[in-house]
Amino acid sequence: MDGYTVAVLVTDSAPWRSFTLPTADTGPQARSYICANCDEHYHSFDPACTRCRVPQCPDCGRCACPPRTPGRSCPSCFIVHPPAMFAPGSDRCLDCS
Ligand SMILES: [Zn+2]
Ligand SMILES: [Zn+2]
Ligand SMILES: [Zn+2]
Repeated sequence: MDGYTVAVLVTDSAPWRSFTLPTADTGPQARSYICANCDEHYHSFDPACTRCRVPQCPDCGRCACPPRTPGRSCPSCFIVHPPAMFAPGSDRCLDCS
């Protein structure tokens, strides 16, 4: 163009090139995990949990998140609250007492 040579530089695979092989680590690969709950060794393609990034164990169906604290049901409002919602010695939640 007007005596200049125009060079087009691309950092990655140019869209006009024919199919470029993906690098080895971008394809889907089953990763292996060891279940934190039952020590089951498993491979999984399943989407990983967004919190612990571990897919569910096929054996016990749990990811690596810590188990939920068991709640207590309040006899007054019938809502299951975490244990911290109950005053010591009281069977009603803090909302109701
Ligand atoms: Zn398991
Ligand atoms: Zn999880
Ligand atoms: Zn209550």
